[in-house]
Amino acid sequence: MTDWVADEQQYLFQNYGRQPIVLDRGEGTRVWDTEGHEYLDFVGGVAVNILGHAHPVVAKAAAEQAQTLIHASNLFYTKPMIQLAKLLVENSCLDRVFFCNSGTEAVEGAIKLARRWGLDTRNGAHEIITTIDGFHGRSLGALAATGNARYREPFGPLMPGFHHVPWNDLDQIKAATNEKTAAIMVEPIQGEGGVNMPAPGYLQGIRDWCNEKGILLIFDEVQTGIGRTGSLFAYEQEGVEPDIMTLAKGLAGGVAIGAFMARESIASHLVKGDHGSTFGGNALAAAAGYATVKHVIDEDLSGRCRAASDRLMARLRSMEDRFDVVTEVRGRGLLIAVAFSRDCATDVMDACRRKGLLVNNVRPNAIRLMPPLNVTDDELDRACDILEEAIAASTAAVTK
Ligand SMILES: *Cc1c(COP(=O)(O)O)cnc(C)c1O
Repeated sequence: MTDWVADEQQYLFQNYGRQPIVLDRGEGTRVWDTEGHEYLDFVGGVAVNILGHAHPVVAKAAAEQAQTLIHASNLFYTKPMIQLAKLLVENSCLDRVFFCNSGTEAVEGAIKLARRWGLDTRNGAHEIITTIDGFHGRSLGALAATGNARYREPFGPLMPGFHHVPWNDLDQIKAATNEKTAAIMVEPIQGEGGVNMPAPGYLQGIRDWCNEKGILLIFDEVQTGIGRTGSLFAYEQEGVEPDIMTLAKGLAGGVAIGAFMARESIASHLVKGDHGSTFGGNALAAAAGYATVKHVIDEDLSGRCRAASDRLMARLRSMEDRFDVVTEVRGRGLLIAVAFSRDCATDVMDACRRKGLLVNNVRPNAIRLMPPLNVTDDELDRACDILEEAIAASTAAVTK
């Protein structure tokens, strides 16, 4: 029998710390490993599988498109990308879409667009202010934007032109703004940084500052977009509209895709020849994306996400009361972190997995839950039962 773990260790770069199971098959919120163990999947491909695994809507759209036309390039028009673009524009505050293949590429495109706009309208302004603990991707441009020195430092020199300021500190944004500033880029909720919520008024304050200074507001909604936080886009619940927005993770229900969107007055600065992607907007990914987003809208899965969130949050908050080690439950919709008083997230994650629940140790002292938007009440309750047992088991020996 193939030893998949040994082969992985022999043949792949060893840059990931993987949980020690080989996932083989999924259905809805459940996945099975190669040994036949069943798990509730609250990682969801890192906030990607918004409809769960093997959802018939996504599977059918992808399969039918694969048998029709997978890829034709951007030298031609194809139908699915036009359908998906129209759907996104009609359901957002933005006017145009560029398709790419990942969140990182979406951020790269947003940075290029901001620079292009700055060149045309602000005397070559090109600097972008981002936040510490913000995550925008791993390519050299997106990495320069990312507010995590551990990720950046081994790969210098990075692209210049970024200022990292503390999250939730509007004054520091103001202090970092100068005549070279083109944009401020933030996640509406910091995802990879540990599910860090914006303080009330913070995002509105950034919007007002951008208006005052005539600079762009970029929301990186790669993780928060497509219903994840209980509205199609997270900006809706903040009542704050961006000028540019990036999307990826959930956009095609598991198929690789990315996109950035912008207002017409900004998008018009990206002219023929300025940007491109061979695979971007390919018919397979776009068909899966169209089916996914349409299903989320038609079935009001953002609403289902809010109801599921209320149920999950109530249980998690009760754990906050009952376990000394649980210090905070934070998040919105189905992007939630449970924080601990000490660095036991890996122990809790491992204990959960052994009991049949997959979670992610987003910080040494916090786990992150990202179930599909259509997760059932039963699945939420079962996951909470397991999480309680795991917290009790992995923290029992330690007195606070
Ligand atoms: C995941 C993520 C990215 C990077 O997306 P990839 O698809 O991994 O390239 C960028 N921004 C945010 C907010 C993310 O959560």
